[in-house]
Amino acid sequence: AEEALRHAQKMEAVGQLTGGVAHDFNNLLTVIKSSVEFLQRPDLPAERRSRYLAAVSDTVDRAAKLTSQLLSFARRQALKPEVFDVGERLASVADMLNAVTGARIRIDTTVPDVPCHVRADLSQFETALVNMVVNARDAMDGAGTLTLRLTCAATLPGIRGHAEASGRFAALAIADEGVGIAPDLLSRIFEPFFTTKEVGKGTGLGLSQVIGFAKQSGGDVDVTSEPGRGTTFTLYLPQVEAPVPAEIRREVRSGGGDR
Ligand code: ADP
Repeated sequence: AEEALRHAQKMEAVGQLTGGVAHDFNNLLTVIKSSVEFLQRPDLPAERRSRYLAAVSDTVDRAAKLTSQLLSFARRQALKPEVFDVGERLASVADMLNAVTGARIRIDTTVPDVPCHVRADLSQFETALVNMVVNARDAMDGAGTLTLRLTCAATLPGIRGHAEASGRFAALAIADEGVGIAPDLLSRIFEPFFTTKEVGKGTGLGLSQVIGFAKQSGGDVDVTSEPGRGTTFTLYLPQVEAPVPAEIRREVRSGGGDR
């Protein structure tokens, strides 16, 4: 649990880091925009023109450096898919999630009796979960019930214009009693850097991580919301057969007809 909490704190630090980068980037864009506005003046003296041009060029260089730093940071986290039971993972991160939400939010978790295996990157799964739980906490203003419900062998519904997908999915619904999301914003929440939170609180990168992870794993994310009542995010991941434990595999191999 202690390690899980450290992980959550690390994720918050990563959020702050990327938020800081986004903020710096915005400042650079502001410099470029105002320089270009000056450059559009027909009466601008030649000496000032070349100064503004140099400023634009310099600022573009700094922006390029910033994005390449961000990219090399992102690349370090290559996906390492592994097979795990979603219900089992939910149990093992329960303490961490409670630490994230605080004492005034009750987390009500329901998992099926049968195991529900998926193949995905485990740390990205936990990051996605934390991102959605942090959003739920913020939407609930720190109090209420947060419901986590895992369903096995679900079908992936048609989402955002895509057809319903066949196959079996593990569906993890995260339902909050928060402020909800206005219908006209629903289509924008997954965009990188889209946030309605105040500066320094939101990065707008949480849900883009969630949807990126879901799609790279062969799944998707659905959202339904009722303003004033709450929001439900459902993470779909393709279900796989349970892995055969190594010792059983060995038995089968040695027991099966040696030539
Ligand atoms: P951030 O949390 O940094 O703002 P996200 O990408 O995680 O970035 O979320 C983007 C936006 O989507 C939030 O700013 C908020 O407006 C909205 N949102 C996400 N989850 C919820 C939720 N559970 N309830 C209400 N609004 C939400």
